[in-house]
Amino acid sequence: MIKAVVFDLWETLVYIKKSRIRKKIKKYVKGKNLRDIEKVIMTKNYDSKDQAFEDLCKMFNIRFGKFFYKFILKHSLGNNSYKSIYDDVFPVLKKLGKKYKLGVVSNIDCFSAEYFKGFFDFFDSIVLSCNIGKIKPDLGLYKKVLDELGVKPKQAVMVGNCLENDIEPAKKLGMKAILIKRQADLLNFRPVKTQYKPTITELFGIEKYLSMW
Ligand SMILES: [Mg+2]
Repeated sequence: MIKAVVFDLWETLVYIKKSRIRKKIKKYVKGKNLRDIEKVIMTKNYDSKDQAFEDLCKMFNIRFGKFFYKFILKHSLGNNSYKSIYDDVFPVLKKLGKKYKLGVVSNIDCFSAEYFKGFFDFFDSIVLSCNIGKIKPDLGLYKKVLDELGVKPKQAVMVGNCLENDIEPAKKLGMKAILIKRQADLLNFRPVKTQYKPTITELFGIEKYLSMW
């Protein structure tokens, strides 16, 4: 019997409005892996954005250029006006919260985490990369959320948009996993091409599986 539902954050519960942040940042750090950027800025609790930016520059051997700095602040670390919550999130979380424990596992920088602080109140366990120093698909994040929710893997469902970060690690631990493919018009990234089942396109689709398992 399912006792807990764990959610990924980006492109599952929230999205970044009309911007091509990743593409643009990629252009600035030519040839570098975006995952490495995430490993830097998403696994620490920084006191200031300057510190986060300095770390980035060090890692990529980039001069602490004003233009790049402004760019990062405008499009990523410092800007919350792009961040938005999908319409189906509150009705579904409210409903599920009456019957199941809710968790969130996210790769996120500490500045965005601060922005979502109020939203995180909906969850019984909040496991964020910036707080625990590891990033998905590290199984440590999943073990922690299961531990905090007090459920066994088979009693928990993971819902996320990324096979590598959400579905595979959850399955490895023995959790159930539902892939969500959001409407492409709101996405910054191309939805993943896969035949994985079960796949849903909005959160309302979850309940059917919860009662089935
Ligand atoms: Mg995601």
